[in-house]
Amino acid sequence: MAAYDYQTHEFDVVVVGAGGAGLRATLGMAEQGLRTACITKVFPTRSHTVAAQGGIAASLGNMGPDSWQWHMYDTVKGSDWLGDTDAMEYLAREAPKAVYELEHYGVPFSRTEDGKIYQRPFGGHTTEYGEGPPVQRTCAAADRTGHAILHTLYGQSLKEQAEFYIEYFAIDLLMGDDGQCEGVLAWKLDDGTLHVFAAKMVVLATGGYGRAYFSATSAHTCTGDGGGMIARAGLPLQDMEFVQFHPTGIYGAGCLITEGARGEGGYLTNSEGERFMERYAPTYKDLASRDVVSRCMTMEIREGRGVGAEKDHIHLHLNHLPPETLHERLPGISESARIFAGVDVTKDPIPVLPTVHYNMGGIPTNYWGEVLNPTADDPDRVAPGLMAVGEAGCASVHGANRLGSNSLIDLVVFGRAAAIRAGKVVDPSTSVPIPKKAAIEKALDRFDALRHADGDTPTAELRLEMQKTMQSDAAVFRTDKTLAEGVEKMEAVARKMDGIKVTDRTMIWNSDLMETLELTNLMPNALATVVSAEARKESRGAHAHEDYPDRDDETWRKHTLAWVEGTKTTLDYRPVHLNPLTGHNEGGIDLKKIAPKARVY
Ligand SMILES: Cc1cc2nc3c(=O)[nH]c(=O)nc-3n(C[C@H](O)[C@H](O)[C@H](O)COP(=O)(O)OP(=O)(O)OC[C@H]3O[C@@H](n4cnc5c(N)ncnc54)[C@H](O)[C@@H]3O)c2cc1C
Repeated sequence: MAAYDYQTHEFDVVVVGAGGAGLRATLGMAEQGLRTACITKVFPTRSHTVAAQGGIAASLGNMGPDSWQWHMYDTVKGSDWLGDTDAMEYLAREAPKAVYELEHYGVPFSRTEDGKIYQRPFGGHTTEYGEGPPVQRTCAAADRTGHAILHTLYGQSLKEQAEFYIEYFAIDLLMGDDGQCEGVLAWKLDDGTLHVFAAKMVVLATGGYGRAYFSATSAHTCTGDGGGMIARAGLPLQDMEFVQFHPTGIYGAGCLITEGARGEGGYLTNSEGERFMERYAPTYKDLASRDVVSRCMTMEIREGRGVGAEKDHIHLHLNHLPPETLHERLPGISESARIFAGVDVTKDPIPVLPTVHYNMGGIPTNYWGEVLNPTADDPDRVAPGLMAVGEAGCASVHGANRLGSNSLIDLVVFGRAAAIRAGKVVDPSTSVPIPKKAAIEKALDRFDALRHADGDTPTAELRLEMQKTMQSDAAVFRTDKTLAEGVEKMEAVARKMDGIKVTDRTMIWNSDLMETLELTNLMPNALATVVSAEARKESRGAHAHEDYPDRDDETWRKHTLAWVEGTKTTLDYRPVHLNPLTGHNEGGIDLKKIAPKARVY
């Protein structure tokens, strides 16, 4: 047994993560007088939520007619009928309330002439159950909506006396004998001390796992730590095969180049200088839908027509456009290309690659954010003492595909819901149960073994191998063959964890060890993704399977569950919730309106 000293802290609630979801949960818990701690590995306002520019969806109807039923319909359709109906109703119904709360907390939303919150149009958001024109539903604070939300929620949480533990890395959940969560073990990065946070409720708000892939728009901190902790606690991950790609991330850096670049006349070429999209999509060419363009680019690369030394990316040309157009309409893009690709867009093409943008899958929860530990008899069984919110969770409102601006609203609606629920199930008058010693020792042993890992493969090398494998085999373009190869290769990559090499053995600011802990979290997320994808023999939302091009509701309208233990992944399924919260007669949605049909836009 590893001998480490640790300090013990007692709280009613411990929230892991200080992005939009973690902060909204923290604030809501603290407002109710629950003693609340928020642990975060980066400073709160540096969480990935800060990068969200576009905005947050809610049917305020400030720019024209709108209703929560229309928002719900769009979300159901966007999810390709895999989302849970009760959770999607909850999201759409509560969205306006959650946005007005943000406004009252102080989020500086952009305004209309008459002083209302400004809303912009976004893809997939419509009126009249998809029959009417597009709607302006996305509330924005200029192009810094996530930034504004984070700063406001952090300030409000401090005001409510929530306690922040900043640059603390959560290592593992501390589970009790009856499957209940009793706290979390964390490592303070700047002084090397270890901390046991005992709590009646632990909320995972650790964000997505974009960094399991070579190219991702998400921050380097998006390493699926919550998913890793869940897998090690013997709990399943849900719908991990659904990963959203954006066609034009900058090669290597992954930063987003907006669709607007192609809207202004930009086009893609392969190593032969061919405008290949003309071949695949003669009408819309480079402006075909996101998933189509992403798949065609990947096809070109797989067939050996990628550009660059490793023939592993594609060129995006803007250099034929008049410099005035670039300057006026795409100044941000010109700047990103210069900084992150060293390219002058007036002269040279930008190297781009379909880039992971969002994880629809995650830790299964009900619409109160309570984590599920499903059995065959009880697919909705709750794991006591544990919640998950934000991109780490899967409620599931995005199903097989998320609509733009529906993530930020998910963060605040379910962060808030988790707090409401905790107010009912957590009793602040009782004492905090102390986590059992065996659980603490198990977590310390894992930490110690990694700290002294002395194999042959440096963390950075194995991480790159995982990222390249996921990028080529669990990609936009999926076939039985690529997925079977992907499973085999990923299992081989995961086996190499046994031979990992950590060079730095110190406890203070040991980024080598922190990145190794992160790799142990990315690995189960990656395995669950590729194994779940290999099993799903249909195409739905982001899971576009070349061998099964159609959606198959009869067999596959169900959630995938994946338990990952070491290199072994076990799958099962649980039913999609088909019933809304409110009957049609009480003002709820008419079920006929949201019955499955083909998803065409
Ligand atoms: C470039 C970009 C633009 C986007 N634009 C939009 C948009 O316009 N609209 C929209 O709706 N969505 C958008 N999205 C998606 C949306 O921003 C994210 O899904 C969302 O911000 C995730 O928030 P979160 O709170 O779940 O996690 P994050 O904001 O990623 O925060 C995770 C938190 O967990 C903490 N953490 C993680 N692991 C640990 C650990 N082991 N120990 C301690 N702390 C830990 C981190 O420190 C951090 O505080 C965008 C995403 C990207 C990448």
